[in-house]
Amino acid sequence: MISTANPDLIDDLVSANHILVNEGVLDGFGHISVRHDKNPELFLIARSMAPALVTHKDIVCCNLEGKVLDPDGVTSYVERFIHSEIFKVRPDVNSVIHSHSPAIIPFGVTGERLRPICHMSGFLGATTPVYEIRNSVGDNSDLLIRSQSLGRDLATVLGNHPVALLRGHGNVCVGTSIKQVVYRAIYTENNAKLQLQARPLGEITYLSDAEAQATAEMNDQHLDRPWQMWKRNAKSANTI
Ligand code: MN
Repeated sequence: MISTANPDLIDDLVSANHILVNEGVLDGFGHISVRHDKNPELFLIARSMAPALVTHKDIVCCNLEGKVLDPDGVTSYVERFIHSEIFKVRPDVNSVIHSHSPAIIPFGVTGERLRPICHMSGFLGATTPVYEIRNSVGDNSDLLIRSQSLGRDLATVLGNHPVALLRGHGNVCVGTSIKQVVYRAIYTENNAKLQLQARPLGEITYLSDAEAQATAEMNDQHLDRPWQMWKRNAKSANTI
């Protein structure tokens, strides 16, 4: 099924893997997916491997039950259900990133809300929900979203938001395109760092809801500019 996907889409998915490592969002773990351009009931994602090493041939096709459609039995990530369950309930979403990007973790474990602190992260809006896995399976899990049921619970908490935090684990970002979701993942991490830097200095003035919306609309018109730079930087860092 992957062979029917637009090769440019697969190229962008491979580039996104490398960009997200180079920008500090992914490390040896985490993943990005994109909805299949010919069949909305399918999505593309790498097989289970470090994102920095992903090439075109490592991309596999998955259905919305989280089943990998591969004649050779190649498997993908244990947490692929994050992607399948979000694609199932969010027809507006065409790309999903799950990462453990570090600066965001404190906001999932303290009750301190992640909020838009600057104009580059207005897309966050007023509320970034936090998924508490204990509400699904109690306090003895390994925190991974390793089933359809857990993916469904996470997708419910995400609702219509662009980002949700996973307590003690990481976050999920969604977007209408690879470029948009990569932008969002990078600037969610940036926003978390800025909030942590500003907090000791005093009371923070966050973007208003109207400012958040206006800046998000503005930035969505310029997604290709940083994308080209991130892609070049990832290449020159030899991650491609
Ligand atoms: Mn994870």
